Amino acid sequence: MTANSRYDVLFEPVRIGPVTAKNRFYQVPHCTGMGWLRPRMVAALRGMKAEGGWGVVCTEYCSIHPSSDDQPYPSASLWDETDIKANALMTERVHEHGALAGVELWFGGSRTANSLTREVSMDVASVPNLVGDPYQTRAMDKQDIRTLRKWHRDAASRAKTAGFDIVYVYATHGYLLSNFLSPVNNTRIDEYGGSLENRVRLVREIIADTKEAVGDSCAVAVRFSADEGGGADGAPAPSDRREMFEILAELPDLWDINIADYSYEMGTSRFVKEGALEPYMAFVKSVTSKPVVTVGRFTSPDTMVSQVKRGIVDFIGAARPSIADPFLPRKIAEGRIEDIRECIGCNICYAGDGKGVPIRCTQNPTMGEEWRRGWHPEIIAAKGSDARVLIVGAGPAGLEAARALGQRGYGVVLAEARRELGGRVMAECRLPGLSEWSRVRDYRVQQIAAMANVEIYRESELGADDVLAVAADHVVIATGATWRRDGFGRFHPAGMTDPGPAEHIYTPDDIMAGRLPEGRVVVFDDDHYYMGAVVAERLATEGVSVIFVTPGTMVAAWSTYTAEQVRTQKRLIELGVEIVSTYGLSAFDGGEAELACVLTGRRRRVAAEAVVMVTARRPNDGLYRELSEKAVAAAGGAPRTLRRIGDAEAPAIIAAAVYAGHRYARELDAPEDARLRVPRDRQFEDTPETSGGR
Ligand code: ADP
Ligand code: SF4
Repeated sequence: MTANSRYDVLFEPVRIGPVTAKNRFYQVPHCTGMGWLRPRMVAALRGMKAEGGWGVVCTEYCSIHPSSDDQPYPSASLWDETDIKANALMTERVHEHGALAGVELWFGGSRTANSLTREVSMDVASVPNLVGDPYQTRAMDKQDIRTLRKWHRDAASRAKTAGFDIVYVYATHGYLLSNFLSPVNNTRIDEYGGSLENRVRLVREIIADTKEAVGDSCAVAVRFSADEGGGADGAPAPSDRREMFEILAELPDLWDINIADYSYEMGTSRFVKEGALEPYMAFVKSVTSKPVVTVGRFTSPDTMVSQVKRGIVDFIGAARPSIADPFLPRKIAEGRIEDIRECIGCNICYAGDGKGVPIRCTQNPTMGEEWRRGWHPEIIAAKGSDARVLIVGAGPAGLEAARALGQRGYGVVLAEARRELGGRVMAECRLPGLSEWSRVRDYRVQQIAAMANVEIYRESELGADDVLAVAADHVVIATGATWRRDGFGRFHPAGMTDPGPAEHIYTPDDIMAGRLPEGRVVVFDDDHYYMGAVVAERLATEGVSVIFVTPGTMVAAWSTYTAEQVRTQKRLIELGVEIVSTYGLSAFDGGEAELACVLTGRRRRVAAEAVVMVTARRPNDGLYRELSEKAVAAAGGAPRTLRRIGDAEAPAIIAAAVYAGHRYARELDAPEDARLRVPRDRQFEDTPETSGGR
């Protein structure tokens, strides 16, 4: 029974072949940037999800053989005995909390260049590497197919030895098995190509192989795409997917359903809202009697219940909601809905994988730090002293510091210049598509409201004397940053000596405050993440004629890591924004802008009455510097420690500000050496030395 019987259905056990999940909360396979390289980190991360109540917890994609190597992105792997030991660390942690452990066996084919192992990649045909590496695959012959099946069987057996309960056959996302299914990519003329029956043959065989290898004690799941792609958002284009699914429907023990367009399936909240895959699921449950899971960035328990009751899914699949809040199921069970830390759909978690580094999350600063720093998302050490802490600034850094210090039991005074709490988050969430970002503030304000030991003073812009008058033991400055007007940034490392007439120059801060230019406007984006494009979108929807100028080769290049670059650029094109890439702004006189090509130095002039500079931010650290000097002079009321955190220290993404606030709170009164210690997990094999033969 849950605290609210409305949600009981979510906590019903569900049978998956030979195993049973204790509830319907299913952490689908998702990347962590850890994989085979960082086994202890990933085991602790997955174990935390199980502790938080997820009934099933899966690995990331798990390579079955060295000829499927995705470096520099660290997938999991089950190549040999060492891998069994590494994966067993994870399954043990997951089992400790009564959850099932799933492993997504994977063979990359034409999406992997095998840059680490240097094995030749193979796929359904000889095709160019699909992520742009200058390699082509070997077309698989019959022997290759037999070998692949053996590798998959062997990996499945190793998975069983490692303690997994659910073993996947991964047939989506452009990897090898999905290419066999594809009517476009599968150009074979043997019994594995051509007709629908032939295209599903390999997947069918591998499901049977996997069942034979482990099906007595492990469930076999298939990850499958319910559409073929090419349709508009939310409008499935199933092609012959339904017929394929009918052939396979009863073979595995569980279906994990995806769609072809990854940037929609796991789209940012700018473009995709909760439960977006529902139209794609329409036929699935009517064709199979096996349990079904899909994703949808579900954070609302009412939506989850509705999905189950209306027969769309049997499990609530989640990657991001389980990252933002590993304790989401427990909070629902205990009726603590207001304590849920809702995912904001920014995809910073995904960016870690694209960078080949451990995952981080905007909402959950402990994500990825479970092993390395021993951080628990819900538990924190009690205060180390009776010290009082003054925090200046209630943006994401200040709010998180206040929340976590409050949780530790410190007496906290939080002073904010504005009436509204949330800092940059509240300004940015009013830009097009970013409304869910306000959850960064909402969660923290909600938590702080219940803490008698945290006092909040709004409309309280503090100067140095005001700070000293509070006589706090510790002062932390979280006063944020301000967008620069002088063009300073990567293109102008010293700023522009004459950026143009001041009244014609705007920054994102102006746009967010509702001060919009008119006429023809250059948005100069030397920031390369979301801000330039979102500002351009805001202006274009107001009827402003926008020229988007960027020294980059594409719009918002860094948002490739958050899987939204293509959608971002497409949106600007559709809004009629003129895009000028590989150009920087070299001069502006209030009527014309001069642009310089970053490749050739060639100049061109465009008519523009205003420029929006989206280049860099200046830390608001004046208060910090003034206080540093006063503290040195040992003025009365000088705090024992003075720190600056978040954008006031170094402007960055919101995730960095939240992390800075959290870290400050964790480390207050901790010994110095504990703060500086950054243990590194590393894969360590006890295999014999190589001969070194030349
Ligand atoms: P971060 O991302 O580092 O948290 P933000 O820019 O989001 O930074 O938030 C900084 C907050 O600090 C803003 O809400 C701003 O109004 C507030 N602030 C700035 N200077 C002062 C000050 N002197 N006294 C009180 N609040 C301040
Ligand atoms: Fe959600 Fe952003 Fe956290 Fe990812 S990083 S889980 S998208 S809040």
